Amino acid sequence: MLKSKLPHIGTTIFTRMSTLAIEHKALNLSQGFPDFDAPEALLEAMTRHVRAGHNQYAPMAGVVHLREQIAAQILRHRGINSDPDSEITVVPGATEGIFCAVNACIRPGDEVIVFDPCYDSYAPAIELAGGKAVHVPLNAHSFGVNWERVSAAITPRTRLIMINSPHNPSGAVLSREDLLQLQDIAELHDLLVISDEVYEHLIFDGAQHHSVLQFVELRRRSFALFSFGKTFSVTGWKTGYCVAPAALTTELRKVHQFVCFVAVTPVQMAVADFMEAEPDYAASLSNFYQAKRDLFCDALQDSRFKFRPSVGTYFQLLDYSAITQERDTQLAEDWTQQHGIASIPISVFYEESPVQHYLRFCFAKNDDVLLSAAETLCAI
Ligand code: PMP
Ligand code: GLN
Repeated sequence: MLKSKLPHIGTTIFTRMSTLAIEHKALNLSQGFPDFDAPEALLEAMTRHVRAGHNQYAPMAGVVHLREQIAAQILRHRGINSDPDSEITVVPGATEGIFCAVNACIRPGDEVIVFDPCYDSYAPAIELAGGKAVHVPLNAHSFGVNWERVSAAITPRTRLIMINSPHNPSGAVLSREDLLQLQDIAELHDLLVISDEVYEHLIFDGAQHHSVLQFVELRRRSFALFSFGKTFSVTGWKTGYCVAPAALTTELRKVHQFVCFVAVTPVQMAVADFMEAEPDYAASLSNFYQAKRDLFCDALQDSRFKFRPSVGTYFQLLDYSAITQERDTQLAEDWTQQHGIASIPISVFYEESPVQHYLRFCFAKNDDVLLSAAETLCAI
């Protein structure tokens, strides 16, 4: 019978915690998704395109209007030119784009450097391609990268480095200096890079998001992944895009066309219309989410949790070590059942979790939900 290719993998923590939250009618601050709707104009555009009969296959690389809007946004936002035909591919979610990029790069026996805590889809994608994930831990508490450790982890088999900034689950953001270090290492060892930038627009306190697209030598060897789910509050629409040089894009598309073939047509058309009509929408997100982060953090000032306000993403880590030394996986379940609040334990994102006591809370929620969650947490 079938011998599992992923014997150590169960159902994702996001699915498990959201299911538990529903079962116990808990406030669900676990899986990362907004509890409010997308902008009205985007929802209207979606309905309009469905009703207009735009319900058949899109071009494999994505609807042309959308790829043009993406290129226009990258130019406006970062001052960088990218070719919609040869460098931009619309994908049915960043997860699929990452899977395809990994499979385009990795052969059996290749090694891939990932940083722990590591988004849950990376290692299985590497393993299914026959590669080996080499886990380099981020620094404790600051979740910064120790580039000496990265250099030390490189072997003749290393082929790829995967980065994620703003970082899920920690909310840390890579600096310009980090990207320069990455660039030096990638160039020295001739490595490819997958850069997961799905939270690029969720960045706080005046911090800057640095994209691999902004560094000439990095850009030459990188796949950069983005998600409309995050930017437009439509995680269920599962649509994103990959920006990569033409030669890498060709290889990505060879895989993508046999994994999903295309992303959903009316979604792409609706997003393109919305981006054209509201070019500054994405830039407004930082203020919107920073206010939510601040509301949540301010309401936790008198709690027993320790925390540093998140610099990016819509996640806030809370250190519960002053309350209990229990394992985070057990605690996340217990608190969902006993206190009616669901979160994500971060030890599951490590190959070997250090002793630490963090739970991740998603603050992409209505203000009353955030205040109610904070009240519950203050009482613990
Ligand atoms: N990367 C990271 C770091 C994420 O948090 C997520 C999920 N939200 C994804 C990729 C996947 O994005 P998508 O829903 O577009 O597949
Ligand atoms: N990225 C989301 C999170 O971190 C979850 C996406 C998923 O459920 N696969 O919570």
